[in-house]
Amino acid sequence: MRESWQGRFGETPGVLKGASHEQTIVPVLDFEIGGSEFITMAGPCSVETEAQLLSTAHSVRRAGARILRGGAFKPRTSPYSFQGLGLDGLKLLAHARHETGLAIVTEVMSETDVDLVAEYADILQIGSRNMENDSLIVAAARSGRPMLLKRGLVATVADLFRAAQLALDYGNPNVILCERGIRTFETAMRNTFDAASIAVMKHVSHLPVIADPSHATGRRDLVPFAARIGVAAGADGLIVEVHPDPDTAWSDGDQSLDFAEFDAMMVSLAPWIALREGEMRLRLENNLDVAEVAG
Ligand code: PEP
Ligand code: MN
Repeated sequence: MRESWQGRFGETPGVLKGASHEQTIVPVLDFEIGGSEFITMAGPCSVETEAQLLSTAHSVRRAGARILRGGAFKPRTSPYSFQGLGLDGLKLLAHARHETGLAIVTEVMSETDVDLVAEYADILQIGSRNMENDSLIVAAARSGRPMLLKRGLVATVADLFRAAQLALDYGNPNVILCERGIRTFETAMRNTFDAASIAVMKHVSHLPVIADPSHATGRRDLVPFAARIGVAAGADGLIVEVHPDPDTAWSDGDQSLDFAEFDAMMVSLAPWIALREGEMRLRLENNLDVAEVAG
């Protein structure tokens, strides 16, 4: 059955599951992404201040997150919006890692910044606007750091696979795919959460898949629902925006959860994550296709 997909994604054989490669497991600090543990990444859209970042890091860690997210280099819709703290932001992220033990995922926007960001980050985020920036992907791949590759706003799954294949070709096996919503004719939400693409990616690719319910919906009240859908669709983890006071956030406040909202979401997700982790364990133990386990 899975063979019928191979033609559609024939250009990117390295991304597809093979007889000997069912699942890539990405090591990060003392845990893994794509293994038997469901991994939650959480934190502010942008690194703003030490107090903002540290309070968020402590709070999301207590709620079960393993990875702190936070942009120091920000791609913005308007050139007049806050563009990120740059190096100062990276230093604050490193400080938060030291204080909490959380790993760090942060975006790199330019190939000239790759070495600098790789010094501070455990995972390099390639943002949706840069998914087709080949020179950035090559530079990030060469850094040797795991990469979180976000699906472009108008990219198909095959386009995302092509970007992933490029990173693999440049010697970096630790590529993580991310569904963060795409542009469609629907305008009720910021983007359209293409949850079925998570099922497709998990079905045909060995790379871990992360769901981003924050950018997918653009609305704080929808984030817990989209997160649950992401877990049920088979994602290996989530990336969620959390801020101490979302209404004053310097970016993406509308879609950021406050601490209590994130805590509540994690509590209500727990049974779903437990089910998903049971499936992950079974799949790894038996080297099974996800669809066989789910079906
Ligand atoms: C982000 O993670 O804050 C971000 C800018 O994401 P995306 O590239 O998916 O828009
Ligand atoms: Mn954001």
